[in-house]
Amino acid sequence: MLKTEAFCKSSDEELQTEEGEMAAQAVSVLITGANRGLGLEMVKQMVEGSRPVRKLFACCREPAGPRAEALQTLAKKHPDVIVVIRLDATDLCSIKLCAKQVGSVVGTGGLNLLINNAGMLVKANLQETTTEDMQNTFNTNVIGPMNIIKEFLPHLRAAAKASGMPGMSSSKAAVVSITSFLGSMEVVKQSYVHFRAVSYRVSKAGLNMLMLCAAEEMKTDEILFSMMHPGWVRTDMGGEEGEIDAPDSVKGMLTVMASLTEEQNGAFLSYQGNTLPW
Ligand code: NAP
Repeated sequence: MLKTEAFCKSSDEELQTEEGEMAAQAVSVLITGANRGLGLEMVKQMVEGSRPVRKLFACCREPAGPRAEALQTLAKKHPDVIVVIRLDATDLCSIKLCAKQVGSVVGTGGLNLLINNAGMLVKANLQETTTEDMQNTFNTNVIGPMNIIKEFLPHLRAAAKASGMPGMSSSKAAVVSITSFLGSMEVVKQSYVHFRAVSYRVSKAGLNMLMLCAAEEMKTDEILFSMMHPGWVRTDMGGEEGEIDAPDSVKGMLTVMASLTEEQNGAFLSYQGNTLPW
């Protein structure tokens, strides 16, 4: 169930803050759903690549649970870089708490890049899809990213202000949402027969619209909003029949993210950098 604002209590005292200010030029990144699949691979490549990020907030639903073991092992290897934080996209309280914790680390340097990666999929056609399927999928894939964007806006604005650079970029202040080609209305006729996940398709189309609205609304803040399709990837969600492995997908997405400018504000791109149809 989606936990709403009414359930949230002031939780400053619950925060585990980390000491230390980030240098003005540092690049800080937050990834949701960072414990497995594409999210975990993003964490790996961002900390172990040739230009590692300075601070990486790796968010997941259960940091102490068995599904976060690989992430925790990676975090132990890079204790100065990776901060594992609990964030459930359907729990507004956890989002608010996470935003406070991130704020206490980044300070006035802000958060440069927020990646909405967490997502869920129900494989059911229209006749099989229940109200609950649609609500759960919407809560995770659309309402989650909406609340995350809202709660992290102050940190993104701080990063845009602190950068002193003109224009837009992912090293200045940006939100990238991992969406899907299946959210494209133009491809439904050709692709529906192969993939009938109605709630997923509707939610990703909704996510795309959310991101486009954000791109317009936050233009003057010089915060970039882009959507990315990772390809059909062999993860728990993509399945073994997927066309590519997570390392290749993530390598492509990170290359595209690094090249984003204001021209890609509101763009729907593939992991190879191609513009996709709505
Ligand atoms: P995955 O292997 O199933 O991983 C999904 C991740 O999302 C997990 O870390 C999961 O955490 C997390 N998550 C699910 N619900 C959450 C919630 N309420 N709050 C926080 N985290 C939550 O999927 P993936 O293939 O890596 O997919 C990542 C993103 O790419 C998704 O947005 C997906 O829609 C998109 N995508 C994937 C493909 C593909 O072929 N794989 C294609 C197009 C788009 P738990 O471990 O706690 O469940």
